[in-house]
Amino acid sequence: MVVSSLQTTEAPTPAYICPFDRTCSYLNQAAAELEMDDNIRVILEHPRKVVTVAIPVRLDSGKVQIFAGHRVQHCDVLGPYKGGTRYHRAVTLAELSALAMLMTWKCALLGIPYGGAKGGIAIDPAQYSDGEIERLTRRYASELIKDIGPAIDIPAPDIGTSSREMAWMMDTYSMNMGHAVLGVVTGKPLSIGGSKGRDMATGRGVMIAVREALMELGQTLEGVKIAIQGFGKVGGAAAQLLHQAGAKIIAVSDASGGVFASEGLDIPALSTHVAANKTVVGFPGGEPVTNAELLTLPCDVLIPAALEDQITEENADRIQAKLVAEAANAPITLVADQMLESRGIKVLPDILANAGGVVVSYLEWVQGQSFLFWDEKRVNREMEKLMVQAYHRVSQRSQEQGGDLRLAAYTLGVGRVAQAIRDRGLYP
Ligand code: GLU
Repeated sequence: MVVSSLQTTEAPTPAYICPFDRTCSYLNQAAAELEMDDNIRVILEHPRKVVTVAIPVRLDSGKVQIFAGHRVQHCDVLGPYKGGTRYHRAVTLAELSALAMLMTWKCALLGIPYGGAKGGIAIDPAQYSDGEIERLTRRYASELIKDIGPAIDIPAPDIGTSSREMAWMMDTYSMNMGHAVLGVVTGKPLSIGGSKGRDMATGRGVMIAVREALMELGQTLEGVKIAIQGFGKVGGAAAQLLHQAGAKIIAVSDASGGVFASEGLDIPALSTHVAANKTVVGFPGGEPVTNAELLTLPCDVLIPAALEDQITEENADRIQAKLVAEAANAPITLVADQMLESRGIKVLPDILANAGGVVVSYLEWVQGQSFLFWDEKRVNREMEKLMVQAYHRVSQRSQEQGGDLRLAAYTLGVGRVAQAIRDRGLYP
């Protein structure tokens, strides 16, 4: 345990290791592989700055409710902090600290000049009106006004937030500065400096990573059976793109439940159903399946694209896929990760598999800083280039050093940050 005050996640079993300690454990493995100076390792296992603010929001009823808003800034050695803003009832500082650290390794691995951060508020946004969410978001942004900025820390969407919240954050920041600041957040609407391709970017990156992994196994996406947990911004986009590439999406799910069709779901028809009903449940072109059942269905590729801790020691021995792509951050527990590895199941780690989102965030920030906007083809091409290069760097590293793709990805990402610390030196 590293930062005891961050340990607020409840332990479902005695063997449970929370995402923060798990990320530290992977960091330690990479540090050992790199024979890293322990003075650098200890710097990397602590977030540099943790901000918690009280956010009073006047509800539509007239009552004032206080929410706790957080921003964890893990490391800014390579450039401004970067990472999403999560609105979810289970948000804790421990979770955000893990996610912030993952962002540091993700950006370093992809070679983009950012550090890692993550923000969030423990709230179930579905229980609040649009006006309440707007007031919450604007007050949160204004409480963080000195901690964010295009050269300081650049928030983006995550679970429970979208381009709508980013527009409110950008507007709040800009009104305080007295001029429009495009680079303060990414994932903005196109009308205020958003990038073409950003909404599909994480799902597109997942598709590219899966495609490259299959290619190494001598396979293409054509006819490959894929189960996806989650049908939101990430899972939904991945389903659509993988379906277009010829894969059979045999099951998808959302928070309410899932649907399954052994010969593949009609994804465009399912998207129409979701647009009308706000859930995949009740889709006539498939049979009902629970979120837990979906994970253990017979398939070639499993894509957890929802929350943390979905593949655990309870179900890891029943996973039937040959390849698991972590579209979500930290969906596999430490023990489950070892179980999958010993069963020969290949895992595409989160810091690689879901990096397409932050890569296009970077491209959006570059466009905003230069006031020059690209067409979607160019955005997708630049992102694809970075994802393909990163995949092959990781794959090659894992062959050279032995060990799985996660250790290879961590070794590369952590190694790059450690090198920067060595080059910059310790202040003062
Ligand atoms: N929330 C996304 C992630 O976890 C995107 C972060 C960003 O674009 O800054 O990677």
